[in-house]
Amino acid sequence: MTRVAWIGLGVMGFPMAGHLAKRGGFDVTVYNRTAAKAARWVEAYGGRAAATPRAAAEGTDVVFACVGNDDDLRQVAVGPEGAFQAMKRGALFVDHTTASATVARELHGLAKAQGLGFVDAPVSGGQAGAENGVLTVMCGGDPADYDRAEPLIAHFSRMRKLLGPAGSGQLAKMCNQIAIAGLVQGLAEAVNFGMKAGLDMLAVVDVISKGAAGSWQMENRHKTMIEGKFDFGFAVDWMRKDLSICLEESRRNGAPLPVTALVDQFYAEVQKLGGRRWDTSSLIARFQRLDR
Ligand code: NAP
Repeated sequence: MTRVAWIGLGVMGFPMAGHLAKRGGFDVTVYNRTAAKAARWVEAYGGRAAATPRAAAEGTDVVFACVGNDDDLRQVAVGPEGAFQAMKRGALFVDHTTASATVARELHGLAKAQGLGFVDAPVSGGQAGAENGVLTVMCGGDPADYDRAEPLIAHFSRMRKLLGPAGSGQLAKMCNQIAIAGLVQGLAEAVNFGMKAGLDMLAVVDVISKGAAGSWQMENRHKTMIEGKFDFGFAVDWMRKDLSICLEESRRNGAPLPVTALVDQFYAEVQKLGGRRWDTSSLIARFQRLDR
C-alpha cells in the first residue's frame, strides 16, 4: 500500500489531500505550518498529522507539497526540517506549488542526487477545481516519475500531462497565467465599456459568451464584475507573485511580454485600492473607482 505525505493544507492543498484519502483510500500523513489546520484535516479525513515536513515524510512513498512560493518550497523540501531529510531512496516528491522553473530544476537535481524522484506539477482550476477534484495539472520531470505520480494526481484532476523535463510544468503554468492576464483585462474593459454605453451587460454576456469572445473568465466572472464583488477567488497578491515569475523567465528566454507587464502594473494599482486579497477579476475596479 502506497504511503503518502501531504505538506501544505491551504485553500488548495486541504481539499486535494482530502481526495487522496477519500477517493484514493490512501494512508495520508499531513503537515501544516499552522497546526490547527492539520488537526482539522485529520478530523475530516482520518490519517495523522506530523510536527514537521521531515516527520511527515518519514517512511512514505510519495510526498506532495502545495505551499506559497519558491522560498516556502525550499524550506519544506530541503530545509533542516524538510521532507528530503527523511525520504527513503526511490521515494517521490510531487510539488503542486506555483513556483519558478528554476526552483523546480534545482530540487529535481537535488532529488536525483539522493535517489529520489521529483515532479513539478502546478495546477489550474482554483478553489472550486480543488474542492471538486477537477483540476488541470501541468507536469515536468522524468517519464518514470510522472508515471508513478499520475494515478495519484488523477484523484483530484480532470486533466494532467507530462509536458517535458523538470521545470516544464512550471513553464506551462506561466503560459496559463500570461494568457489569463491579458484576457481578464480585455474582459474588464468590455464590461466597463458596455455599462458606460448603457447596455444590460448580463444580457450582452449571455449572447457574446456563446461566440468567439467566450472564455472561462467571462462565463464565471462577468456577474461579479458587473456587481463590483471581488471578495473571493484567486487573490491579486498570488497573481502578482505568478506574473513576477513569468516576467523573470521572459528576461531569460527573450519572449516579450508587454501586455503581461502592463497588467501586472494594473494589479499593483488594485493592491493600492485595498484589493490584495480580491479575486483577479478586480481589474475592473480600477475603472469603477476612477468613476467615483
Ligand atoms: P494558501 O491558502 O495561502 O495556503 C498556502 C499553504 O502553504 C498553507 O498551508 C501555508 O501554511 C503553507 N505555507 C506557506 N509558506 C510556508 C512555509 N514557509 N512553510 C510551511 N508551510 C508554508 O494558498 P493556496 O491558495 O492553497 O495556494 C497554494 C499554491 O497553489 C500557491 O503557490 C498558489 O499560487 C497556487 N495556486 C492557487 C490557486 C487558488 O485559486 N488559490 C490556484 C492555482 C494555484 P499556513 O496554513 O501555516 O499559512
